[in-house]
Amino acid sequence: MDNLELLSDYATFLREKKQEGKRIIAFISHDNIPEELLDAAGFIPLRLIFAGNDDLMDASHDYLPPSTCAFAQSCIGFFSIKPRQYEFLDLIDYFIISNHCVSDICASEIISKYFNIPSLKFYISYTKNKNSLKYFKLELMELKKQLEIINGNKIKDEVFIQSIKNYNSFKKKLLDFSFLNIKGTEKLKIIQSAMLYGPLFLPKLESYIQKHKENQIQKLTDLKDILITGGSIFINDYLIDLIEEGGGNIVFFDSWIGNNYYSQIFEDNIIDSIGNPYDLLVHRFKNNKFGDHSVPNFLENKISQIEKIYQDHLKKTGRKLGIINHIIKFCDHISIMSSHFKNGLQEKGIQVLNLERDYSRAIRGQLTTRIEAFLEMI
Ligand code: SF4
Repeated sequence: MDNLELLSDYATFLREKKQEGKRIIAFISHDNIPEELLDAAGFIPLRLIFAGNDDLMDASHDYLPPSTCAFAQSCIGFFSIKPRQYEFLDLIDYFIISNHCVSDICASEIISKYFNIPSLKFYISYTKNKNSLKYFKLELMELKKQLEIINGNKIKDEVFIQSIKNYNSFKKKLLDFSFLNIKGTEKLKIIQSAMLYGPLFLPKLESYIQKHKENQIQKLTDLKDILITGGSIFINDYLIDLIEEGGGNIVFFDSWIGNNYYSQIFEDNIIDSIGNPYDLLVHRFKNNKFGDHSVPNFLENKISQIEKIYQDHLKKTGRKLGIINHIIKFCDHISIMSSHFKNGLQEKGIQVLNLERDYSRAIRGQLTTRIEAFLEMI
């Protein structure tokens, strides 16, 4: 899926924001980064959600061994070779170093150190108990302090709460959008754009929903319904094209670029009853049971979540869902449990394809064969 127009529009948007005096703060896109706090501090959060290729991966080998995950390799590659359509990465002022996984933290540190981007640290506990919740709050307060030092002024609680409300309304709308019955390529492109722009994308999202409500695909009998889980499909990744060319249609995106992002919303009464913005984000962290950041019982939670989505889909449409577990090569978070994940779901009669790949062009044919064989089987 080629997204040159999206990237060019985004580059223009970032340049305009810089001219207005805004600063850009980037991070490798996973879970639990408090973008509302960055927004409340007046920064433009920039998620690295761009897929790799051979050149990008190769360029990273000066810094990390090729056994680093293909996504983290590519993130380094972007800064090393700066492809023309990604020149906007030069506009980044700060980089957040966080520990979603080892590859994330290593790639973030390398990007900050070797490409001279000042860093801010935000570490997240791998466990979930009373102490880890306290730790999460301390990290939020620490990040707040770091942002205030850069800005030279305080982040007011009411501004932070307003930012949480803005993101919340935006995510609710994105969740509504995700249920539209449209082609997966089109849906993904809008989800990716929305996650780049954040709440500023809300009016566009509303008009897309309006437009597509009248324009939904009623009959997709010739396409197999797919839920994609595991690693995200990033901008400019050809994987979704292979799935559609093979006769599949992704109806559910279950990863960081997808449901795990926009399902983490607050009910309005929770925002009012908790009141304190830091406690609100702690509350969200506590309830984030389906993220892959070593949450206790991740495998069991994930299997039961997908089983529920599968059964709901079957009941609603009478159609089975095929599950593609997208494993970005050397991504331990997803690969380490993949056989248990597959067995767990297959015991419940749900078909799973563990699809491991990196971003090299050479494996395109091999991926096509595996996807087609799987779709045939559903
Ligand atoms: S190893 Fe997995 S979770 Fe970590 S950066 Fe790579 S894709 Fe993301």
